[in-house]
Amino acid sequence: MSVQMSLNPFEIAQRQLDEAAKRLDLDPGVHELLRWPMREFHVRIPVRMDDGSVKVFPGYRVQYNWARGPCKGGIRFHPEETVDTVRALAAWMTWKTAVVDLPLGGGKGGVVCNPKELSARELERVSRGYIRALGHYLGPDVDVPAPDVYTNPQVMAWMLDEYERMVGRSAPGVITGKPLPLGGSAGRGDATARGGMYCVREAGKVLGIDLKGATAAIQGYGNAGQFAHTLGEELLGLKVVAVSDSQGGIYNPNGLSAKEVMAHKEKTGSVKGFPGAKAITNEELLELDVVVLFPAALENQITAANAGRIKARIVAELANGPTTPEADAVLFKNKVYVIPDFLCNAGGVTVSYFEQVQNAYNYYWDVAEVHERLDRKMTTAFHAVHTMAQEHKVHNRVGAYLVSVQRVAEAVRLRGWA
Ligand code: NAD
Repeated sequence: MSVQMSLNPFEIAQRQLDEAAKRLDLDPGVHELLRWPMREFHVRIPVRMDDGSVKVFPGYRVQYNWARGPCKGGIRFHPEETVDTVRALAAWMTWKTAVVDLPLGGGKGGVVCNPKELSARELERVSRGYIRALGHYLGPDVDVPAPDVYTNPQVMAWMLDEYERMVGRSAPGVITGKPLPLGGSAGRGDATARGGMYCVREAGKVLGIDLKGATAAIQGYGNAGQFAHTLGEELLGLKVVAVSDSQGGIYNPNGLSAKEVMAHKEKTGSVKGFPGAKAITNEELLELDVVVLFPAALENQITAANAGRIKARIVAELANGPTTPEADAVLFKNKVYVIPDFLCNAGGVTVSYFEQVQNAYNYYWDVAEVHERLDRKMTTAFHAVHTMAQEHKVHNRVGAYLVSVQRVAEAVRLRGWA
């Protein structure tokens, strides 16, 4: 791996933008504006712990850009959270909402804490404390958070409740990923993986690959990975031959049943040791000779060190940032078709947007309506990116940036900001 190249996610995000700006011959003022968050908050959250002591947790909210509408993006609770990760994710949210053409900007938040070491009551106090610190700068038409790493619908429920106490009225549209009884949307749970499947289906069409019975491997077996397994079988007829989680991977060339692997993980806490499958490492999984590879775990998994050994025809990035810029160049040269993260995993934010729309109307759709609307959004976005990449003879990540940056830049210009 070229260690000189920074793996700082925000620097990567800026380099990706720079490449798109060059190709678009972007006005230098617009380019400079888009390289940085427009506004960010650094807060300290005092929390009374169960033993009576007070602990102070650092928190962030980055409002990257709101030219196209209110900022939108999740809140992570993570012991190793850094402001640069939050900035990068906020930038990617800006491009993500633009690529699927949602009337939203990009944002992201985080609290440096380890939820695994907090009691449920402490977790609730951290969640409410975050809103007390930042609630005045959030709102359905300002900035709308959602769940992310180690936050979930229950955390969203506490945050909604705290916000409504502050403003003194019902305001369900301030946050998405809520539990259904508090104004959540049907279809939010599997939306990220489902959106990715619609993209893979379209990729199969443009590449002339018959996906029925085609082999697939999935790295990561959490929300995104497990639903990718179920929906890969159900919607596309994929034969998933390998999956992994943080403890290791399993491989069976005859295919792994989603139902059975999920039951095994539920029982044992890992996919490891699944009967009838061979143990493989995460590195081996990435290099398997499969038709579709789904990175659905972490950043920086496909790098200059292993990109040359990736044999998949399609890499569908459900995870954020799994491929480094150096690896992108290698994959492109080797004709591996990458569906880039902020397109491939945009199903989650798209259904979050549907949730906001339903909250505004106070009228709720059934799951079939959510799926149909999601399919339309993802399919349109996929083809916009594919066409752009073909026209410019670039890989799809650059294609996706060209689509998004053009859209955000146009909104910036129309507002007269630059
Ligand atoms: P999750 O926490 O539910 O699951 C993560 C999984 O990755 C776990 O199974 C974990 O064991 C596994 N993992 C951790 N380290 C690993 C390693 N070294 N090798 C293999 N597996 C490893 O998280 P999630 O919600 O499924 O998110 C996964 C990725 O998808 C992240 O990059 C996230 O940002 C992205 N994403 C998720 C959503 C969503 O709606 N859930 C939306 C957009 C993007």
